[in-house]
Amino acid sequence: MSWQFEPVGVIHSCFAEKFAIPRQPQLAPAATASLELLPPYNQPEALEGLEGVSHLWLIFVFHAAASGPQHLRVRPPRLGGNQRIGVFASRATHRPNPIGQSVVRLEGIDNGRLLLSGVDLLDGTPVLDIKPYVPYADAISDAVNPLAPLPPAPIPVSWSDAALEQARQQQERLDQPLIALIEQCLAQDPKPAYQQPGPEREYGVQLWDVNVRWHYPDSGQIRVLSVTPT
Ligand code: SAM
Repeated sequence: MSWQFEPVGVIHSCFAEKFAIPRQPQLAPAATASLELLPPYNQPEALEGLEGVSHLWLIFVFHAAASGPQHLRVRPPRLGGNQRIGVFASRATHRPNPIGQSVVRLEGIDNGRLLLSGVDLLDGTPVLDIKPYVPYADAISDAVNPLAPLPPAPIPVSWSDAALEQARQQQERLDQPLIALIEQCLAQDPKPAYQQPGPEREYGVQLWDVNVRWHYPDSGQIRVLSVTPT
């Protein structure tokens, strides 16, 4: 059995690369995106009834996931990268069919585009389907998952004076909540859990069209060093 699917839309998001994207949606509410619908779904009829709906499920393709042989067990980053668990107990991107699912906030609809926030999606992600979040069915108050009982504890993020001023300028130019986005994404500590960098080691990522650089002055703390256009 095999099926072929065509995307209904494509994501344009703040995340130009995979590094520093939160591991799940909602962890960075300032992470915004628009979902451009493709014909024939770019007609108003396809969106009728979404007025007043606060959240959507997006079913999408991990189009930038590493290819290669499939394994029955994976090493999720949130478990430190050392512990193996079954692929079906994880949300790993490298999986039998490279399909992901995220609940995102629907901020508005603009000319056939869905305006979204709280995304964990790489720019260019193809979307296979969109479904409304149904609170009575999707929010399960007594649900448990021992491997992911709580959201990751955020780490403190501070700024150099110069970086904060640069970020203010870029935020104004982009007309996006860039400072909150940087703080929320870095607070998730993007580096692999096994790395213990000294203060001299710098990390960087591109958000929108700006390069953000930071280091770890002390273990478990981040200081933003610069925010410059690419
Ligand atoms: N919420 C989704 C799920 O549970 O299916 C995704 C979870 S997955 C652990 C989240 C990671 O997927 C992000 O940190 C990012 O690095 C990666 N990612 C996001 N969009 C992607 C894409 N289009 N292709 C490959 N990796 C992607």
